[in-house]
Amino acid sequence: MKQDQALQLFSEALPRLQQAFSHLPSSDPSAETASTDAMRAVLDELTERLADNYPYFHPLYAGQMLKPPHPIARAAYALAMWINPNNHALDGGRASSRLEVEAVREIAAMFGWTEHLGHLTSGGTFANLEALWVAGRLVPGKKIVASENAHYTHQRIGSVLGLAFENIAADTRGRMDLSSLETALQSGEVGTVVVTLGTTSAGAVDPLDKILDLRQRHRFRIHVDAAYGGYFKLVSDLGPDAARAYARIDEADSIVVDPHKHGLQPYGCGCILFNDPSVGRFYKHDSPYTYFTSNELHLGEISLECSRAGATATALWATQKLLPLTPDGEFAQGLSCGRMAALRVYNKIRQDKRFFPGPEPELDILVWAVKACTLEESSRLATAVFDLAAKQDLHLALAQVPVNFFGPETWPGAPADGRVTCLRSVLMKPEHLNWVDAIWEKLSHAVSKAIEPETL
Ligand SMILES: *Cc1c(COP(=O)(O)O)cnc(C)c1O
Repeated sequence: MKQDQALQLFSEALPRLQQAFSHLPSSDPSAETASTDAMRAVLDELTERLADNYPYFHPLYAGQMLKPPHPIARAAYALAMWINPNNHALDGGRASSRLEVEAVREIAAMFGWTEHLGHLTSGGTFANLEALWVAGRLVPGKKIVASENAHYTHQRIGSVLGLAFENIAADTRGRMDLSSLETALQSGEVGTVVVTLGTTSAGAVDPLDKILDLRQRHRFRIHVDAAYGGYFKLVSDLGPDAARAYARIDEADSIVVDPHKHGLQPYGCGCILFNDPSVGRFYKHDSPYTYFTSNELHLGEISLECSRAGATATALWATQKLLPLTPDGEFAQGLSCGRMAALRVYNKIRQDKRFFPGPEPELDILVWAVKACTLEESSRLATAVFDLAAKQDLHLALAQVPVNFFGPETWPGAPADGRVTCLRSVLMKPEHLNWVDAIWEKLSHAVSKAIEPETL
């Protein structure tokens, strides 16, 4: 088990770290050891409580975006916890701040940037907030636009920042519709376009290359939200449309990627990158408490958040050391495996008369509906399949997606802007590739049972 390996590595490394501080006079350890039994009792209760979870670490968990952290990330995080550094300032997290700078530089290099300003955040939402906050400072009074399939938090961030926000229609494959975007740009009111590379619902890749071309006729900033899909930059066997979008990611003004989604990290790890380091001027402030020990940059000087876990940077640095962000390298091959798994399941769905397939997956997420004459019946059946699959330990997800994902002939009477509840699966673990048949068998059984409950 990955957990056991992490524990072993951690227990080997900890004494070496402790050794580095062994010159200090010993502090009274009695306070730490006296309550071991009490702590054990708490952990006994906690273990029971934690068992009430879906098995996110297992390949039969194929629902939401959850991927187990790598053992090296677990071990490094635990090791850093012994120090518990704070990457706000070098005063609180000297070594881990430097690890953060190095790890973030490697992520920027993955996107083709040698110059950048960036740091880790608590997650994609805060990273996007920083991107849109800087965008609002640079083009004040202008709108932020994003596809209707962009992450729901963009609209909310707009309201937090007091910036006008507008949705742009998506095409039948869930990507931002170019002609709708151009209409919005013609109003002259758009300051920033949020381009999603890998939508949360279906992994759709907005046509970044074509949106960049629109900058020949209109002036606007481009923020790429690649919280989910950013690491697919390393994968060379994407479909041609997605490959064209990823090829030009370095022309964006800012990029967000979440190491805690596809980067094998524990939660609490997002990343924001700006291609123009001079935007650091907007963050300028002084801290009367903390910026004392060094004239080097304190990360709190370029971050909206104050305290941030140094352990997060430590785990990320260690993971990238072991699995460098190399195109088509070992880490990238893990992403390819998930994508291949998604394509295989998609092909099975497409050939099965009991389903309506959604768009062909561009990354490793697929959505599909259960065949039925009405939206209501299809939605009801999807929910039934979800429940029946879970009874066999196959955990899928449900999503409300636009009916146009399924083409105009699927439900002829349905409203064009209608939505249907369909099944969704995120096959983001490399192991998923070896579990395609097992997943399919359980899914197939569940749908038979949902359609004809009385015959089984
Ligand atoms: C997950 C996600 C977010 C939000 O990130 P959090 O880390 O959950 O805060 C934003 N955008 C996209 C495309 C995402 O997939």
